[in-house]
Amino acid sequence: PDTNHLIRALRSASDGRGDAPFATDTTGTVTTYADLWHGAARMARVLISHGVEPGDRVAMQVEKSIAALQCYLGTVMAGAVHLPLNTAYTAAEVGYFLTDAAPHVFVCDPARQAEMKTATREAAVAHVLTLDADGRGTVAEAMGNAPPLPAAIPREADDIAAFLYTSGTTGRSKGAMLTHGNLVSNAAALRDLWQFTADDVLIHALPVFHTHGLFVAINVTLMAGGQILLHGSFDAAAVLADFPRATTLMGVPTFYTRLLDQPGLTRQAAAHMRLFVSGSAPMLTDTHAKWHDRTGHIVLERYGMTETCMNTSNPYDGTRKPGTVGLPLPGVEVRLTGTDGIPVPTGEPGDIEVRGPNLFAGYWNMPEKTAEDMRPGGWFATGDIGTVDADGYYTIVGRSKDLIISGGYNIYPKEIETLVDAVPGVAESAVFGVPHPDFGESVAVAVVRLPGSYLTDEDLLAVVMPDLARYKHPRHIHFLDALPRNTMGKVQKTELRRSFGGN
Ligand code: ATP
Ligand code: MG
Repeated sequence: PDTNHLIRALRSASDGRGDAPFATDTTGTVTTYADLWHGAARMARVLISHGVEPGDRVAMQVEKSIAALQCYLGTVMAGAVHLPLNTAYTAAEVGYFLTDAAPHVFVCDPARQAEMKTATREAAVAHVLTLDADGRGTVAEAMGNAPPLPAAIPREADDIAAFLYTSGTTGRSKGAMLTHGNLVSNAAALRDLWQFTADDVLIHALPVFHTHGLFVAINVTLMAGGQILLHGSFDAAAVLADFPRATTLMGVPTFYTRLLDQPGLTRQAAAHMRLFVSGSAPMLTDTHAKWHDRTGHIVLERYGMTETCMNTSNPYDGTRKPGTVGLPLPGVEVRLTGTDGIPVPTGEPGDIEVRGPNLFAGYWNMPEKTAEDMRPGGWFATGDIGTVDADGYYTIVGRSKDLIISGGYNIYPKEIETLVDAVPGVAESAVFGVPHPDFGESVAVAVVRLPGSYLTDEDLLAVVMPDLARYKHPRHIHFLDALPRNTMGKVQKTELRRSFGGN
């Protein structure tokens, strides 16, 4: 990119194309690029008039909408730091994050303002403004009278542009500070890699408070001058109905499994689409295979995280290997290390460490955690464990927090999950460690059966045990109706350990 300022980089592709559509919502309402930026520039003015200064955090909890996107862009235009909160958070959760992040302004839905009183008072937020998905609220009123800010407030590549809380899969969410340079370099790399252009029409059904829906989907589209079809949330039938007028879909694995339940999902239906991307959680190889059978497309899987944006991706033109997360993005380095911090031999599992322009500036208010994860030489320890094949493709085998250590042996859940998932009658599974008096931990499996299956634990063990060393044998099998997942489809293993681990 020609610039390391996020707003200038995002605007560069659409300059001079003001009347081109940016978004079309499910009711057919079109927002042009001119509308989008005009609103953002007014938003920036409103924030500045409320005393927002460069580097200040502007928190928002606004339902997915053009208004929410203008709030994001306007905040960064004002030189401030965008801090989106999960729209599902309760007032108490919002209170925790506001107190932690100390934003100058909090923008929330007018319908929830009263409920947020205690939270905003305790966090000493200077201004609470309101905005809803239809663009109504105190911000909107102020925007009506505000002349647009003519140009974005200057910022340097190392200045913070956004502050996102991690998903909280392994513990309390951590605030990750992302710089202009992080976001610009990552969006530019993905745009080039996935060959996004102004002709692309992306089906956008992800939330906009995570890296995936915001920095991958929105930033990449803006930076290419493309369009989105804006879905408030994921509805398989509605998403499928958009295939004939779209070119790309970015989703989490559950999008794909739900789409596979749609009888209308055919090669014909997917003929106009050029790219299907998945990430945020592992996609089962079975889902990959079914998707290929039904649509003729190979889902392109990529791997990233709040702290680093995207790390690896399968190639667009080259070979996509289902079950892997592909190759490091251009400019990004990845390596696998052992507990001693020394790189492991090829083929062996190791801690995934990442280095490059995508690495965040650190965790907010957690200097010890930042120091622990930032390793010598500029490497960041992701907390994920992976392997790499001879062609350089990475596979995620689990998270280090989910690693099971039994009798001194390391057990990677993915290995057992892959075997269990292949057993006839199994829909999906999650392997986790539970305390064991002698071995430290032993293997437990949560299994979801396919409808109509009467698979028993003996049946299951009979199939998987011959393929597993003794210390990897599951000691506890729990049949569940569904695995506990968050909105991004991530399996909550902490939840499973809490329910079945006796702690
Ligand atoms: P927390 O850090 O709060 O415990 P989290 O790690 O789930 O939560 P995110 O930053 O949203 O929060 O998610 C990043 C994680 O998602 C990665 O570290 C990785 O474990 C997982 N992930 C992302 N993409 C993939 C993928 N394609 N396959 C497997 N896992 C993935
Ligand atoms: Mg994480």
